[in-house]
Amino acid sequence: MTRYAAPGTEGAIVSYHSRYDHYIGGEYVPPARGQYFENPSPVNGQPFTEMARGTAEDVERALDAAHAVAPGWGRRSTTERSDILLKIADRMEANLERLAVAESWENGKPVRETLAADIPLAIDHFRYFAGAIRAQEGTLGQVDDDTVAYHFHEPLGVVAQIIPWNFPILMAAWKLAPALAAGNAVVLKPAEQTPASIHYWMSLVEDLLPPGVVNIVNGFGPEAGKPLASSPRVAKVAFTGETSTGRLILQYAAENLKPVTLELGGKSPNIFFDDIWAVDDDLRDKALEGFTMFALNQGEVCTCPSRALVERGRYGDFLDAAIARTEMITSGHPLDTDTMIGAQASSEQLAKILSYLDIGRQEGAKVLTGGERIEHEGELKGGYYVQPTIFEGDNRMRVFQEEIFGPVVSVTSFGDFSDAIKIANDTPYGLGAGVWTRDINTAYRAGRAIQAGRVWTNCYHAYPAHAAFGGYKQSGIGRETHKMMLEHYQQTKNLLVSYSPKKLGFF
Ligand code: NAD
Repeated sequence: MTRYAAPGTEGAIVSYHSRYDHYIGGEYVPPARGQYFENPSPVNGQPFTEMARGTAEDVERALDAAHAVAPGWGRRSTTERSDILLKIADRMEANLERLAVAESWENGKPVRETLAADIPLAIDHFRYFAGAIRAQEGTLGQVDDDTVAYHFHEPLGVVAQIIPWNFPILMAAWKLAPALAAGNAVVLKPAEQTPASIHYWMSLVEDLLPPGVVNIVNGFGPEAGKPLASSPRVAKVAFTGETSTGRLILQYAAENLKPVTLELGGKSPNIFFDDIWAVDDDLRDKALEGFTMFALNQGEVCTCPSRALVERGRYGDFLDAAIARTEMITSGHPLDTDTMIGAQASSEQLAKILSYLDIGRQEGAKVLTGGERIEHEGELKGGYYVQPTIFEGDNRMRVFQEEIFGPVVSVTSFGDFSDAIKIANDTPYGLGAGVWTRDINTAYRAGRAIQAGRVWTNCYHAYPAHAAFGGYKQSGIGRETHKMMLEHYQQTKNLLVSYSPKKLGFF
């Protein structure tokens, strides 16, 4: 086991500044109204830095900086932009441990996850889009013998990006990599709970980017996010966050007729068919681990498999094994490499999860394990820790229908294939889903029948850059990751050219 030292303490590999201004035009710019807010670490609830509290004036300044450089950045060759993205990825790789510790300290997630998943995935997104933009081609269509349709991709210009706190650096990478590859300048607003890790990332790569191409305005949603999403000076708004906020973003952008992509909430079903039990082998074990993925990242994942649907024939066997497996998840210091589950990201999120633990009990769901806050002592005292919790109940209950965004799974049984699909689709969301079976026919039919943008089959929580990700129903609009994302950040220009001497013939 390795324990990384907390930022700012003796032996630490990360030191956060005591205060962060906005990052605008390649410089740190104090907030126009001079206000700052405290940023606590969820590890112990203690503030470790303070952040500029952004308002509309700061957003305008950031937009000025972005507009000043956008045309030049957009005209650079794709080779140049691609090289910059590759250098960003290399710089991140060289600082993998630092980024992993910075993110764990601010978000509360275990460092073994940031080391193995969050930061490597973010690096890979920069590499993937560095390649994808070079492989993207325009098209030439032959309309008739003398008429040709040329299609070119052009950057949109200046885009707004608003991100959540659950995977700060990865969510920034998902948005920045395609936007920059496509030649846009960006104004990014991190979540108010986790802005410092984005600034830490920026400080590591800022010399690689022309000033003004990426601008960061800190602050709260209504004060900084709203003016950004409402601005007629942005060509697009990309948002990840709650469904209720997504609805507002769509309204703001509609005023200016700006395109929007939304990555929103979920209540993902994880379906376990009986045939998993036919053989006591690696797949059965993998399925049980797949069940416990509800606790990954403390359950603060939009695709958290927060509803487990288990086929009735082996329901009891499955639950016994699943409970035992869940009870092996260890909570501890997020900077210990052995810790499996860390702290919830904020005191508000902790309170929300605890309130859902009460709601579940009140509506008659049975707690099979967990169900309580963990009050660690010593260095972790005051931190936001919750036991991995299994509820058993009915899909109509609120704990089956509403996003809790904590390490909580609600389990129910199903009779047959059509029953499973009916329950799986019976929420307003449609983001992720899991299917566990040995039968390829069942796997295929379930995958096609579930109304969700991503269905994992015999796996869960994998996010390769080359697979499209996004929501059905109230889980979002558009897709992220995959090269199709480039088109969300581009205009298509058509030149329709006639080489014919023939007159038009109308007048
Ligand atoms: P949130 O909606 O509260 O906040 C997200 C961002 O929006 C933050 O930067 C916030 O400051 C900003 N914001 C809030 N109100 C705003 C307003 N009125 N105008 C403009 N900006 C505003 O969400 P959160 O609590 O930070 O994140 C958790 C949510 O994100 C969950 O619902 C989760 O499912 C979702 N999420 C989705 C995906 C996905 O890819 N689908 C990925 C991660 C998280």
